[in-house]
Amino acid sequence: MTSAGAETGITGGPTDDRMVVAENVHKSFGRLPVLRGIDLEVRRNEVMCVVGPSGSGKSTFLRCVNHLEKLTAGRLWVGGELMGYRQKGDKLYELRENQVAAQRSVIGMVFQNFNLFPHMSVLGNVIEAPIQVQRERRQEARTRALELLDRVGLADKAESYPRQLSGGQQQRVAIARALAMRPELMLFDEPTSSLDPELVGDVLDVMRDLAREGMTMIVVTHEMGFAREVSDSLVFMDEGVVVESGQPRTVLSAPQHERTREFLSKVF
Ligand code: ADP
Ligand code: MG
Repeated sequence: MTSAGAETGITGGPTDDRMVVAENVHKSFGRLPVLRGIDLEVRRNEVMCVVGPSGSGKSTFLRCVNHLEKLTAGRLWVGGELMGYRQKGDKLYELRENQVAAQRSVIGMVFQNFNLFPHMSVLGNVIEAPIQVQRERRQEARTRALELLDRVGLADKAESYPRQLSGGQQQRVAIARALAMRPELMLFDEPTSSLDPELVGDVLDVMRDLAREGMTMIVVTHEMGFAREVSDSLVFMDEGVVVESGQPRTVLSAPQHERTREFLSKVF
């Protein structure tokens, strides 16, 4: 770990209702600083929306949350676990990749480009990880997958292949596939950005339902209506820092910073 650990002391991590805690998160690629000290918290059952210009580090931040990227400095906890490390006394030990995978298993992720397995049916896509990773019995996985497909409005598409579906349908399959792993936290990286406008609504409806059912979510999006209506907190990121955050209504209607105002004037 970094020298930041020695300075701040090891606290044992959050044990309260905070699902995600980012503390002074830095990430550089070579000499390019991309995240420059991100501090934020997401409570259980809450939705955080993250907005900001292209290149501001939003995707990199999500990748740090599930430790697909290793932090350059700072710390990140998910569900009370320090991602990437095990703590023993006042020492930190780096985890092996399979141990990180175990930490990551409580996190579901949905990408802009769906990333479905093209050679598998919709049902195949949803049952793959529960069977291969969680060793669920096929019959069990199948029953649950059909329930999840019903929940995202695609019960009749179980035997279809991704190429036979619209982008919006594929994205809803991707959500069902993530949910099949019983995540405690869902990360969405611009889930509707590559969809035709008329297909966006169905995907947002599924996400809205998930939020209502109490799923903890971090959503990178440019859908300001969704952010305003569904999120508990809204974060505006620019150039690797959180410029402004707070209740969505407040940030959207009375932004405090010029950079936020400028960004919002472009997306609305
Ligand atoms: P956003 O999602 O807000 O558009 P990203 O997190 O994708 O921003 O990217 C932020 C910056 O980090 C960009 O300048 C991008 O080129 C750079 N970046 C992202 N991933 C890598 C990588 N693996 N290697 C080098 N640079 C990267
Ligand atoms: Mg991005």
